[in-house]
Amino acid sequence: MPERFQAVCGYRPVVAHVTRFAPSPSGHLHLGHAFAALFAHAAAGEGGRFLVRIEDIDAGRCRPEYDAAIFEDLAWLGLRWDPEIIRQSERAAAYNAALARLDALRLLYPCFCTRAEIRAEIASSPSAPHGPEGPLYPGTCRALSAAERTARIAAGTAHALRLDVRRAIESTGALTWHDADAGPTRAAPEQLGDVVLARKGISTSYHLAVVVDDAFQGVTLVTRGADLFHATHVHRLLQAVLALPTPAYHHHRLIAGADGKRLATRDGATALRSLRAQGWRTKEVLRAVSLAKPG
Ligand code: GLU
Repeated sequence: MPERFQAVCGYRPVVAHVTRFAPSPSGHLHLGHAFAALFAHAAAGEGGRFLVRIEDIDAGRCRPEYDAAIFEDLAWLGLRWDPEIIRQSERAAAYNAALARLDALRLLYPCFCTRAEIRAEIASSPSAPHGPEGPLYPGTCRALSAAERTARIAAGTAHALRLDVRRAIESTGALTWHDADAGPTRAAPEQLGDVVLARKGISTSYHLAVVVDDAFQGVTLVTRGADLFHATHVHRLLQAVLALPTPAYHHHRLIAGADGKRLATRDGATALRSLRAQGWRTKEVLRAVSLAKPG
């Protein structure tokens, strides 16, 4: 494990872990991704495994050229990854099996609401519950009768599948998970409401795919940006209902650009390949991520 990576991430792992870097090939990697990849690589520790997983379930946004570019950029950074690479676009059978299990447990319901209908419903009820990521789904379709659901599905009405979070929590009881910085954390998946687990055209959601894949790949430590801290509450619940192991977590800081805002793929300015074209080497990337302000 190159010492310099550990120096950048401030991370000296005492136990070996299976970690992963899980980018979406919807753009070129930027400095924020470089930090996430270096962090996961360092966190695997001596004798650990560093996996790369391509999160390409959203076919409309992902491109094969970005997929190929991820590996060029990681190699340029000097990282080595485990040969086991999975692409979520090839894992529909595993996600369908998880959905079938959740359905058998009666923890899913079809939701026929359009985005506009959900917005209107939220706007019309001033007491609509809000979570850390904005207003929650008001639960409109949870109340539909079985006959109504069957009729609408038979009529071919487009629908998503949502997790009945309240019912899932009732079935598991209180849950906790561990974050390296936050310590033991009580799972509070109700903060995100009845999340979508599958929608038309995309047979899974980020939440379901990540939970299924982390277990499938034997990931023991999930490192990812602090923006996904709240998602972990839902992931912990899904692990419990699907009888999957719970990894340890380390949500790390996000990197800000010169304008103080969190780096985003659309900015392009800090794309690793642009920096490379300007003559940057790994050394400059390491310096930039260690000096960057939190985003
Ligand atoms: N694919 C996610 C991203 O690019 C990361 C998911 C995760 O690490 O759980 O932000």
